[in-house]
Amino acid sequence: MKLHQLANILVALLMVEWLGCAKKPPPSDKGPQAQINKHPFGKTAEGSDVELYTLKNRNGLKAKIITYGAILVSLEVPDRKGKLDDIILGYDDLTGYIQDQSYQGAIVGRYGNRIAKGRFTLDGVEYKLAANNDANHLHGGKVGYNKVVWQAQPVRENGEVGLKLTYLSKNGEEGYPGNLNCTVTYMLTNNDELKITYSAQTDKATPVNLTHHSYFNLAGQGTADILGHELMLKADRYTPVDEGLIPTGELRSVKGSPMDFTSSQTIGSRIAQVEGGYDHNYVLNSDDGSLAQAGQVYEPTSGRVMKILTTEPGIQFYSGNFLDGSITGKDGKVYQKHYGFCLETQHFPDSPNKPEFPSVILQPGETYKHMCIYAFSTR
Ligand code: BGC
Repeated sequence: MKLHQLANILVALLMVEWLGCAKKPPPSDKGPQAQINKHPFGKTAEGSDVELYTLKNRNGLKAKIITYGAILVSLEVPDRKGKLDDIILGYDDLTGYIQDQSYQGAIVGRYGNRIAKGRFTLDGVEYKLAANNDANHLHGGKVGYNKVVWQAQPVRENGEVGLKLTYLSKNGEEGYPGNLNCTVTYMLTNNDELKITYSAQTDKATPVNLTHHSYFNLAGQGTADILGHELMLKADRYTPVDEGLIPTGELRSVKGSPMDFTSSQTIGSRIAQVEGGYDHNYVLNSDDGSLAQAGQVYEPTSGRVMKILTTEPGIQFYSGNFLDGSITGKDGKVYQKHYGFCLETQHFPDSPNKPEFPSVILQPGETYKHMCIYAFSTR
């Protein structure tokens, strides 16, 4: 055989091998597959069944979600040694969530955060909402989206699992105008992200501001306070508030103040200088509606890192100031002050009464869209 014939055969053999490889599943498709399953989680007082869905990604991370309040009841992620711990606060059973007043793990709506005096005017009509936070309206009112049963449908997409939840909020509910059809999808991606996608449509103009209210503790839920966590927020400004935690309307620079997290700082380093602790909306530097990093949290003892990405213009950083030891949560753990923190991607509080803030009004024919990603890694 001539040399060039041998070379041709070799090339042909290599091609066959290459094509064979191309047909084989990529190596990342080997090994454990993502899974989702469902179990009963009790009944509400009205007799509605509540289900618990367990999502597991290919790397073993687990997220548990119930149809009551679309609540994330646990989230297990590895520390730097690979040990899984549940990093969000919550309760062992449905009764705990029904009695809860702190929005543990829930989807909050129709309007996450406060609306001053529970009033706003839209198209010349004044709407009066339920006042459930002194004179103000907080997190959707007396029966917010955290206190209703959602319809659930498992999602399986590109080897990943998720849960799609829907809820129809009726015209007049808690005082809001318009029937609002809400969809929230939690995906537990194989890149170790909890990705929350929101969408909603209305038949009448209405304010909409949905958010997620997990209390995180990256050292493991119920272990200690979160004051040693290191936080970075991509926000040069925040919205200062009055004594009722209603924004004054000012967008104030964080520079030179204990509000400054533009470089990573422990949550506890300056908290004593902030009256009541952190409970503020930060104005994110990225404000064009594209998905951008909003911040990052690092917990030094476990090595866990959580990045937050969002399409929203704001993020509420709440340092668990109202936790006071009165909640006994999962595994009998008692939640003391600052035992968890929330990072709620959102529009600014009281936007319906602040025309200078980005608009939260959804019109018929439009679709409300919001994405929030909590991405996990270690160092
Ligand atoms: C608010 C706090 C409120 C808490 C309720 C947070 O989102 O910013 O002011 O007390 O939710 O649990």
